[in-house]
Amino acid sequence: SVYGDYIKSVIRTVRNWPEPGVNFRDITPLLQNSAAFRKLIDSFVHRYQELEIDAIAAIDARGFIIGAPLAYELGCSFVPVRKKGKLPFKTISETYKLEYGESTVELHSDAFRPKDRILIVDDLIATGGTMLAAAKLIERSGGLVVETAGIIDLPELGGSKRIREAGHSVFAVCS
Ligand code: 5GP
Repeated sequence: SVYGDYIKSVIRTVRNWPEPGVNFRDITPLLQNSAAFRKLIDSFVHRYQELEIDAIAAIDARGFIIGAPLAYELGCSFVPVRKKGKLPFKTISETYKLEYGESTVELHSDAFRPKDRILIVDDLIATGGTMLAAAKLIERSGGLVVETAGIIDLPELGGSKRIREAGHSVFAVCS
């Protein structure tokens, strides 16, 4: 993305959070900066406006922040992929491994029509486990994953490579 270096410059790294040895990439300075947030959303709009996206599948919770304005601009559906136990209607779920333990994401069973063209969005790709679980949910419900998109990719953690090896396209504004 043309704004990649600029967007990267407004993301803060918080050392040793949430635990010692982890460097957390904090997007709140980017969200506080209205010019930066606009450039971020515009980067996604520019990339996806001609791709006939039917729905944005946005991942709980920071994926919602970019997914909602993007769905508004693209004129497509917004569908939340939520952590276990948050969606009220009939759901399908995928459980995936984390470094310690596991996590589950859920999707409403009536979220898409068969063959709908879906863009998955989240803030950050680390191991890729979350994006891959979301992609599985979408494919199980008959949707087509057009691309998985994040603000930040951490390539040293291998997530984007894993996602590509699973047959999906990956886009990140910066890495
Ligand atoms: P993965 O499943 O790719 O290992 O981890 C990505 C998920 O964890 C995303 O939903 C993302 O929000 C969250 N995450 C992991 N590390 C970070 C980080 O350093 N910064 C932010 N903002 N989110 C993170």
